[in-house]
Amino acid sequence: MLKYFGQRLDTIYTAKRAIAKENFEKSNRAILSAHPAFAQMLKEKKTAELDLARKKARGENFTDEENILAQLNIKIADYVKTNSLSFAPKYVCSTCKDSGYVNGKPCKCLIKEYNNLLHENKSVSPMPRFTFENNTYPTSSDPKAAGMNKLYKIMSEKVCDNFDNCKWQNFIFSGASGIGKTSLAVAVANRLLDKNVSVFYVSSFELINIFLDKHTHKQTSLSKMFDYVNECEMLIIDNLGAEPIYKNVTFEYLFSTLEKRLANKKKTIICTQLGGQALINRYGETFLKFANKKFSLSVEL
Ligand SMILES: [Zn+2]
Repeated sequence: MLKYFGQRLDTIYTAKRAIAKENFEKSNRAILSAHPAFAQMLKEKKTAELDLARKKARGENFTDEENILAQLNIKIADYVKTNSLSFAPKYVCSTCKDSGYVNGKPCKCLIKEYNNLLHENKSVSPMPRFTFENNTYPTSSDPKAAGMNKLYKIMSEKVCDNFDNCKWQNFIFSGASGIGKTSLAVAVANRLLDKNVSVFYVSSFELINIFLDKHTHKQTSLSKMFDYVNECEMLIIDNLGAEPIYKNVTFEYLFSTLEKRLANKKKTIICTQLGGQALINRYGETFLKFANKKFSLSVEL
């Protein structure tokens, strides 16, 4: 689980438990006001317990008090049974009692909450809805179809279904606009999200805004995204090359991000309209490091 979401999950579970406690107390109060006879029994029980404690403390004989208390307990249990009263707190998840863990292992509900957070934070602006099932290349007569289908297969089987053991860390898809780079990247994102893998999809333009926000310490709503850009397991940068070049920001932050992600074995997909030489012209030889064949899959579409 990503530490980025740890604190938010803590907040969610603390709130769940607070709600359960509040509902529990509310329902108990409701039961007592609807059953005055029962409330009276509880009052008597309290008095009896006090009497018993007093006698014990004084070292006196407390057989009578014990009997009274035992009788009251029976009466109370009978009343609860006859009237089907329930005093168990109602948790959202009865398995983990809203703690999120069962025997130290994450409960199913925690995984679900985590998954919700992943989906909520998958991008700054809405991510296109596109999945592997939406790929129309298998029935297309487009001359690029065979190549695209092969790439879809690789991304589905060798990357998504084999995420932890996949040898590639960087993916560079370059080609003209409209060929389907973004669709493929988004299909990967959606498949990974379904597998509880943290994904962040961002256009190069948005990414630069996140970097700029960090650089100028503006602390806007984008600020938290900077950590996520570094920490998420799969970062997708769409349309690299279209972003403005800001001195001390664009290249510096881009390369330090890619560097950090590479060192931390996190995967990145870069979609760009720029071909190999154009990428080097814009970003310099440094870019080649991230396209290194050993850990990168670079495809010109
Ligand atoms: Zn649970």
